[in-house]
Amino acid sequence: LEAKEEFSHKTRAMDVMRPRKNDPPLTVITQDSMSVEDVETIVGSTTYSGYPVVVSRTSQRLVGFVLRRDLIISIENARKKQDGIVSTSVICFTDYCPPLPPSSPSVLKLRSILDLSPFTVTDETPMEIVVDIFRKLGLRQCLVTHNGKLLGIITKKDVLKHIAQMANQDPDSILFN
Ligand code: ADP
Repeated sequence: LEAKEEFSHKTRAMDVMRPRKNDPPLTVITQDSMSVEDVETIVGSTTYSGYPVVVSRTSQRLVGFVLRRDLIISIENARKKQDGIVSTSVICFTDYCPPLPPSSPSVLKLRSILDLSPFTVTDETPMEIVVDIFRKLGLRQCLVTHNGKLLGIITKKDVLKHIAQMANQDPDSILFN
């Protein structure tokens, strides 16, 4: 049961997650400090299926995970149907939204589309275990943390690529037993 020792030479979550070293940082959304326009820019300039939601960029504390398509639909609907929602409206994923000056536009509350318990593993988790979790739970993505701070993301496709690489290097890999 000395998992740490046994796996010390093997691939860990940190080796497979994105971003890679020297990549731009993970694209995240903050829980209550971005405007409709900020989020539209993020969704418009990236193609990721989803975005981690964090307390703040500096804290990198994970709050949840929001799917790209849910964001697009909710913002589009709110702009059409909800009074007072404009580009400068603040988007709020928390239960309690901080009070704003009376002159500011309505807040867009999007708590209902937030997955509050996205699956997470620590950066040290052996990939064997990550692969197993993806298979058993049918995950589409998994977030990677270190000391409670968000570090990266592993998608199902990242896992499949990793499996393919392992297969090339070592056909008898434990992954296929
Ligand atoms: P897929 O892996 O199925 O193509 P995505 O389009 O969501 O799914 O992700 C593409 C790549 O970008 C993957 O390697 C993934 O790890 C990475 N990625 C996913 N979401 C983010 C994000 N919010 N910020 C940075 N990288 C991400």
